[in-house]
Amino acid sequence: MADTILTLKNISYSYHSLNGEVKALDNVSFSVRTGEFLAIVGPSGCGKSTILSLIAGLLRPESGDITFYTDDPQDAKPGIGYMLQHDHLFEWRDIYRNVTLGLEINGQLTAQKKERVLNMVEDYGLTPFLHKKPSELSGGLKQRAALVRTMALEPDILLLDEPFSALDYQTRLHVSSDICRIIRAAGKTAILITHDLSEAISLAERVIVLGQRPARVKREIPIRLTLPDDSVLAARNAPEFQNYFNMLWEELNDE
Ligand code: ADP
Ligand code: MG
Repeated sequence: MADTILTLKNISYSYHSLNGEVKALDNVSFSVRTGEFLAIVGPSGCGKSTILSLIAGLLRPESGDITFYTDDPQDAKPGIGYMLQHDHLFEWRDIYRNVTLGLEINGQLTAQKKERVLNMVEDYGLTPFLHKKPSELSGGLKQRAALVRTMALEPDILLLDEPFSALDYQTRLHVSSDICRIIRAAGKTAILITHDLSEAISLAERVIVLGQRPARVKREIPIRLTLPDDSVLAARNAPEFQNYFNMLWEELNDE
């Protein structure tokens, strides 16, 4: 596998509307390693979601280059999965028909893929809810279902846009640690946007700090925690944790 899966080089982007121009990104550059779990933090409205939309190809950069690296010469770019703050499950479909939606739309719902999805459903503890409607599930279970739906398409890169922020604190700790474990075990590359510094430190291998809009990279901080085991909850008790928290806090508040 290539060492680097993705690079952004001098990316700028502005939104144009009837009210004028909003410059969202100014010369943003960073790379993501294959299999890395990267977190991006920054003030509200600074341009974080815009970065993910550019990576997903939903927007085109005004200037600069986004480069993907794949091993398969057939693929121009790695598969990308997107997970948002709200699970966006469809209430009129049961959980099974929600998690298979992407495959169904792509015409890929083969017996083999079905079986793979059902295995994931089992692994993620969703089997008892397979024929329930989303509203019958807790917030945490719905987020897991949204993850199964995303993973069903076998993406190489997962874009996670504040996926836990609609959950209450207690649920959030469990679900984020769960989901992070699942993504790591599957060897996926993940880019997590969060405004929760503790979440960024406990989940990510590296945190990128963005400045006020238009976003630019202020700092990149590799996270190295001494842990008794690989549990994400234990990360918050690591001796280095407070130091990283203070570092990020100062970086975000010195403008
Ligand atoms: P973040 O995710 O960091 O909160 P966004 O990337 O969503 O920020 O947005 C960055 C800036 O661009 C914000 O000021 C936002 O108001 C503006 N913006 C986002 N989407 C649009 C749009 N479709 N049209 C005009 N302005 C937008
Ligand atoms: Mg956003």
